[in-house]
Amino acid sequence: MENRAEKRRIVLVPVAAQGHVTPMMQLGVALQLKGFSITVAKRQFKQISSSLQHVPGFDFVTIPESSDMSEFKGLGPAEFLMKLNKTNEASFKECISQLLLQQGNDIACIIYDKLMYFCEAAAKEFKLPSIIFSTSSATIQVCYCVLSKLEAEKFLIDMKDPEMQDKVLEGLHPLRYKDLPTSGFGPLEPLLEMCREVVNTRTASAIIINTANSLESSSLSWLQQELGITVYPLGPLHITASLPGPSLLQEDRSCVEWLNKQTPRSVIYISLGSKAHMETKEMLEMAWGLSNSKQPFLWVIRPGSILGSDGIESLPEEISKMVLERGYIVKWAPQIEVLAHPAVGGFWSHCGWNSTLESIVEGVPMICRPLQGEQKLNAMYIESVWRIGIQLEGEVERGCVERSVKRLIMEEEGAGMRERALVLKEKLKATVTSAGSSYNALNELVKDLKTQ
Ligand code: UDP
Repeated sequence: MENRAEKRRIVLVPVAAQGHVTPMMQLGVALQLKGFSITVAKRQFKQISSSLQHVPGFDFVTIPESSDMSEFKGLGPAEFLMKLNKTNEASFKECISQLLLQQGNDIACIIYDKLMYFCEAAAKEFKLPSIIFSTSSATIQVCYCVLSKLEAEKFLIDMKDPEMQDKVLEGLHPLRYKDLPTSGFGPLEPLLEMCREVVNTRTASAIIINTANSLESSSLSWLQQELGITVYPLGPLHITASLPGPSLLQEDRSCVEWLNKQTPRSVIYISLGSKAHMETKEMLEMAWGLSNSKQPFLWVIRPGSILGSDGIESLPEEISKMVLERGYIVKWAPQIEVLAHPAVGGFWSHCGWNSTLESIVEGVPMICRPLQGEQKLNAMYIESVWRIGIQLEGEVERGCVERSVKRLIMEEEGAGMRERALVLKEKLKATVTSAGSSYNALNELVKDLKTQ
């Protein structure tokens, strides 16, 4: 009986974006190592979906696209997401019914990205257990809960008052009203509606979060009380289950050879993740500031990531020459390996949650340049709670770029941040080793999955 249970299947449903797919695949590997079979149900059309096939030992099925994507044109991100969830309910039910036919009644659980809540309809119909997976921080989930209870009109009036903006949310220190991640999802009303959908746990029995007690213990306890279902902090999953790919673009490993030639802790690594863009003007100011700092830098410039330019090649010759004098440019880097390299002294990041975890795990202090709400909240934690980074706010200008790089790499202030980052690194590593909190949470989850 025990042996049969160990071979049961978990169906994973990721969001087709780098920052969501990677931790979901890591979770899959962690569960595969515990004896489960893994099937990934993915949507069509996305570039990242094709690279998914590279995860060894997983089965893949495609959720049939149930609507014409042209119907989504012009929708803001929150409206897009809600429509996608509505239109995918039926096709996911069809997908699960096919799986049940092929594999018998052997699905132990559907684990879905919190944004893919359409999965719940199928779980309910086929009486299958389901668990939510959050690829962002626990504090973001707390914010979604808070936002889900707000009234748009009143909140907009309140936020015009500077005193209200700085007010700490009751019982949620250090979160202030202005930290609530309201930018990047379009107009407020659909965002609040989306939050209501996302925090609704429906029939899910638990939520897995890619975080650790040592980073966010108070947010985790708050969520446990608020949601009334088990909260499993399993992170950082990339330590528990590292895997090569899936990757949006081919990793350019030549940057590791370049790093090998640099002095220890001298290099600033710059990456804005898989989606963020910047204006050419900002890029030029960064280039000047980095160059004036006289520190070497490794810069990820994805095709299309600089608005109005095709990348470094299309910039004025004088600029690209200056950049290439001290810097090295790649389209996509092996980020975890880069952050672990002894030559790297700091990470200029947009503060996506995966990048944040990866940086902390390597004890690398950060220059934070967040672009939207969730990243701003992560940046606030990096700068003010964990005190392992500097946040750049307002317009980027070469003087402040130069100053921030020097503060982080050369000055005592930066040394203090590195020291704290190294302490946090050790704490985080301890959470995933024997008897650590994430290690224990994974074992609890496995026990629950086997008795579902
Ligand atoms: N990444 C990478 N190479 C790069 C840039 C990014 O492998 O050159 C990976 C990075 O390691 C992280 C992910 O892309 O795991 C980005 O996720 P994050 O949550 O930081 O940001 P998002 O892309 O979702 O905005």
